[in-house]
Order: sequence, then C-alpha cells, then structure tokens
Amino acid sequence: MGRDGKGSVGFIGIGTMGREMVRNLLKAGHGVRVFDVVEAAMADVVSEGAVGARNPADAARGCDIVITMLPDTPYVEAVIYGEDGLLKSPPAGRLIVDMSTISPVAVRRIHADLQRADIGFIDAPVSGGPLGARNGALSIMAGGEAEAFARAEPFFKAMGTTITHAGASGAGQTVKLCNQLICGINIQAICEALALGRASGVDLDLLRRVLLGGSASSWMLDKLGPAMIAGDVGAGFRIDLMLKDLRLVQEHAQALNVPLPGTALVTSQYVDARAHGEGANGNQALFRVYDRMTNQSTG
Ligand code: NAD
Repeated sequence: MGRDGKGSVGFIGIGTMGREMVRNLLKAGHGVRVFDVVEAAMADVVSEGAVGARNPADAARGCDIVITMLPDTPYVEAVIYGEDGLLKSPPAGRLIVDMSTISPVAVRRIHADLQRADIGFIDAPVSGGPLGARNGALSIMAGGEAEAFARAEPFFKAMGTTITHAGASGAGQTVKLCNQLICGINIQAICEALALGRASGVDLDLLRRVLLGGSASSWMLDKLGPAMIAGDVGAGFRIDLMLKDLRLVQEHAQALNVPLPGTALVTSQYVDARAHGEGANGNQALFRVYDRMTNQSTG
C-alpha cells in the first residue's frame, strides 16, 4: 500500500458480484489483477483497466492482498490449495481475504493452514446484492485478526459502506449466515402476505405500499416486492445460491446443537422452487411455490 492510500489487489472470481467490486476498486485508484476460470468473464473489467491473469498465483503476483469472490467452499479451497494456488504463491503482502459466502468451519481450517505458512486470512462476506456491489454500498462483515483486518480495511472502503470487524476467524461468515436465514424467512413471510392479499382481492401494489409504511416493512419487501407482484423472476440473487447458504446455516446450527425450525421449513420451499426449475431465477421466484399452492399466478 503506497503513502497515497492506493494499493494493489489480486481479485479472483469475476462473476455477478466480483465484476462490480473490481470496478469500484479501480475507481478508488487501486491496481487490480483479475482471474476467472471463464476467460470471457474478465473481458469487461480488463477493458476498464484491470490486468488479466492466467491463474490464482499470477493474479497474486506483487499484490498487497488477494480477494476471492467465488460460488462456494470447494471453489475457495481449490484456489488456495490447488495447483498454482495461493498457499504456494501468496501475494507479496501475505494477506488473503475471502468475500464469498462459505462454511465457517472451512474458514477456520483455511485460516489455521495459512497461519502456519505465515499468511493472513480474513473471512469477509457481504450483503447488499449486485446493486450494493455496483454502488460500492455493500455491508461487509469480517472475521480474523485485528491487524489483518486493518490492512484490508482501505480496500473494503472502496466496495462497501458498512464495514464491521465481527470477531475471530469465521465470525464474518456466522454473521452472514444469520443475515441469510432472516432474508429467507422474510421472503417467505412476504410470499404468504401476498398470497393472502391476492386471494382476498386486495391490490398487491397498494398492499406493499401500506406495509412499507409500517412495522412489517423490510428490505426484501422494498426491493423484491415489485418483482414478486409483477411475476418477474429473472434477475437478482439466485435460488441456487440461497439454497447453498441455507445448507451452510443448517450445517453450522447442527454442529452447535441449535434447532432452527423456521429455516428448515423455508429451506424445503426453496427445494420445491428448484425442483420446479427455478434454481437460476432470483429469490422472488419463491412466490411461485405459493402460486402453485393457491392455484393462482401474478404477472
Ligand atoms: P457468480 O457465480 O456470478 O460468480 C462466481 C465467479 O467465480 C464466476 O465468474 C466463476 O466463473 C468464477 N469461478 C468459479 N470457480 C473459479 C476458480 N476456481 N477460479 C476462478 N474463478 C472461478 O456468483 P456471485 O453471484 O458473484 O456470488 C459470489 C459469492 O458471493 C457467492 O459465495 C455468493 O453466495 C456471494 N453473494 C452473492 C450475492 C448476490 O446477490 N449474487 C450477494 C451476496 C453474496
């Protein structure tokens, strides 16, 4: 990191979220080397000033930190432990930050393995979706040593507005999983209200507006409500990704003997949605489960 506060980042995983996060790192004046297994995924950000790399080791070369933004735990493990991986070829600043949503148990194992090799590791999952990523307005919740968090913070500031050091390694993922179970159950509650309102003949746009003004208001009702009412299932946080997060929630809760009956119920509804071919659709497609139960549809 230079005296001017500008540094260099290796960024791995240039998907829906990663692409926007790289753009904001570039805008903040940081140098960014990018790697994705799908070469075409890098094209846009390379044309905007990022440098394309051939593998994780190449992305890390000469950088202060490496950030990973990948679909699930095995992908992060592959990038760290695999051939041309970051364990053998860490960045010059010896700090790796994983911003994907992955297992807190895996996070602590990776943290211990990297610590033995004198490499820092921070888990820093995000909330705010593609729009938050685009606007540099993500909520970032981090776990790991305070010193490593402090070194990552200037880079977090380019991508997010609410940046919290939540505690020791894995704490960021635990907070994120709590966030996800609330999101899932909240979407289910909105589906139920819309299903009841629709069956009663209430105008659903009006219902949503009224609810937003009272104690039932929520981010999900605000942001996903219009798409649910219009029957627009395309864009947004995919059903598949939410199912992955709900699996991580249940694994974590079972290991700690914490029963989560609400999460179990909504998980089975997400499975229902996926079984009906909605896996690649946005979370608002959960309303289709209620369409089928009530034999009605919107849009
Ligand atoms: P995505 O599938 O759009 O992007 C992931 C990218 O990683 C893809 O471009 C893929 O080609 C690449 N990739 C896979 N394996 C790789 C490897 N070994 N090396 C390099 N690149 C590899 O996913 P996303 O929506 O950007 O989500 C990324 C993470 O962020 C997930 O863990 C997700 O749960 C989390 N997240 C997503 C959202 C959202 O709204 N999409 C919101 C918050 C958190």
